[in-house]
Amino acid sequence: MRFGKEIERKIAEAAEIIKGGGVVAFPTETVYGLGANAYDEKAVKKIFELKGRPQDNPLIVHISKKQDIYLVAREVPHNAKILIREFWPGPLTLVLPKNPSIPDVVTAGLDTVAVRMPAHPIALKIIKLSGVPIAAPSANISGKPSATQPEHIKKYFGEKVFIIEGKVKIGIESTVLDMTEDIPKILRPGAITKEMIERKIGKVEVFDYIKDSIPKSPGLKYRHYAPDADLILILNRKKMIEFIAQNKELWELKGRKVAVFFFQKKPVNFEHIPNVHIFISGKNLREFAKNLFKILIEKGEKYDVMIFEGVEEKGIGLGIMNRLKKAAKIIVD
Ligand code: AMP
Ligand code: MG
Repeated sequence: MRFGKEIERKIAEAAEIIKGGGVVAFPTETVYGLGANAYDEKAVKKIFELKGRPQDNPLIVHISKKQDIYLVAREVPHNAKILIREFWPGPLTLVLPKNPSIPDVVTAGLDTVAVRMPAHPIALKIIKLSGVPIAAPSANISGKPSATQPEHIKKYFGEKVFIIEGKVKIGIESTVLDMTEDIPKILRPGAITKEMIERKIGKVEVFDYIKDSIPKSPGLKYRHYAPDADLILILNRKKMIEFIAQNKELWELKGRKVAVFFFQKKPVNFEHIPNVHIFISGKNLREFAKNLFKILIEKGEKYDVMIFEGVEEKGIGLGIMNRLKKAAKIIVD
């Protein structure tokens, strides 16, 4: 792929920074990543420091060619090969037995490694020019919503990290699929959906962070995506309208600014309530996913309370609800 001169120059600079043991923020098709040379323990440690990420939360390793998977993983089972053929490059991360050349700091000491080939020309070119796999978590402060715009990275890190700007298409992080179990398990739902995976390899399970008390990955136990505002997630529209009306005096009295996000369309005859502003989270699920972190970060700064209408947990809706549930202070069903 050919880029403009300016982007070419910045990509080359980013690759030099990676080779020199530094950290760069770059766009992928899912969200922005904060990357370093996966072989360089010191460089990877810088990512943890910048993000304030707990040491026991492993990173995803990114490659630019399918065959490079053998640099990262020790073995690749047949079903993983099928998924790679179907979905790479793309927003699907596979958890596989780890190749010993990947330092423990990347995988938080686990014997498994998470790996993916992103479908973003800028990300692919940086990895290729660096000549090494790149360990990259989402480019946010640990526990905060992921960045989908360069402004979000500046908000989190100021001038501390080199940023390459580019467009993010999907808006939520990759699907993480653990291939080391008899029945593969989705540890984090994303744009490559359960339905899409099952069509190719048969039954898969979904990790449930409430029911599965012992997380497969330590990272699954941490609070995520918390916006500056209090987030209330309400699973159906009727309850949502009741909830807003019932708390009317509360919003007025306390002067709390409330942003309400309905999915697809506003309810008819919804009366005006002081301090309450109505928005649409997305016209469809894809659009909601793309808007989600931007809303959490940017509206979270401006409002005291954000109320979201839930969506059906199907397709990418499962990924959206996973993020909203983790971000929520209160869930009303
Ligand atoms: P992020 O870096 O924000 O995209 O998060 C990476 C996700 O991948 C987290 O949910 C991690 O827990 C998960 N992950 C990374 N490595 C592994 C692994 N070896 N086993 C299970 N999950 C992993
Ligand atoms: Mg993250």
